[in-house]
Amino acid sequence: MDELMKMWEYQKVDLKITAMENKLKGSDTRKKLMVARNYLKDAQQNIKNMEAESSALRVSYDTSSHKMETINERIDDVAAELSSSAQEMTMQDVDRLKKESMDLRDQLNRQERELLNIIKSIEKIELTMKKLIANVPRAKNDFEVLRKMYESESAQVAQESEPLRKELEAMEPELDAELLEHYKSIKKRCANPLSPVVGGQCTGCNMELPSAAQKKLAAGSLVECDNCGRILFIKD
Ligand SMILES: [Zn+2]
Repeated sequence: MDELMKMWEYQKVDLKITAMENKLKGSDTRKKLMVARNYLKDAQQNIKNMEAESSALRVSYDTSSHKMETINERIDDVAAELSSSAQEMTMQDVDRLKKESMDLRDQLNRQERELLNIIKSIEKIELTMKKLIANVPRAKNDFEVLRKMYESESAQVAQESEPLRKELEAMEPELDAELLEHYKSIKKRCANPLSPVVGGQCTGCNMELPSAAQKKLAAGSLVECDNCGRILFIKD
């Protein structure tokens, strides 16, 4: 039997295993598992981001409160100055102090609004964070349930594919060692490393083979597809 034909028989069995593994990878359980995993990952990241945002807002809150205190102190100073020494002051000084007092009140109002906005933002973030944190245990539980389901599905596929693996193992000593090694290295990037040539085309990627390659192939040389790298052969 031609080396490539033996390899072709090997690939047929190998592809049955690949199909089983692909079915497992595309299973509903795995899809749900990925969704659950991503939800958890996102939730944990969001919680972390919100914690950082919340602590930055607390710093702003402290800064803003401190500014208000300073403004209040100055307002008190100005008021005291006006009430105690207004008699000895010029009208200009009195006007200046009154104007400063009004400016300070404006500043105080602005700071107050800023502080209220900060408080609102903190409350909003902490509420969202609380809700998210409350969801985490259930999400973790869902994830664990799905993980176990997927593990048992995986184990089942491993069990079902075991006879096929044995079959492959039994075939391997009959194959050309170098060809098998080459097959396995291509297998890492595509499911079917061996590609029959039909109508002058590689059936793996549908690329038309150059005539030189077709001649080499016909002469029995080992030829790889220039386009996809699969091992080409003419199937009888
Ligand atoms: Zn190809």
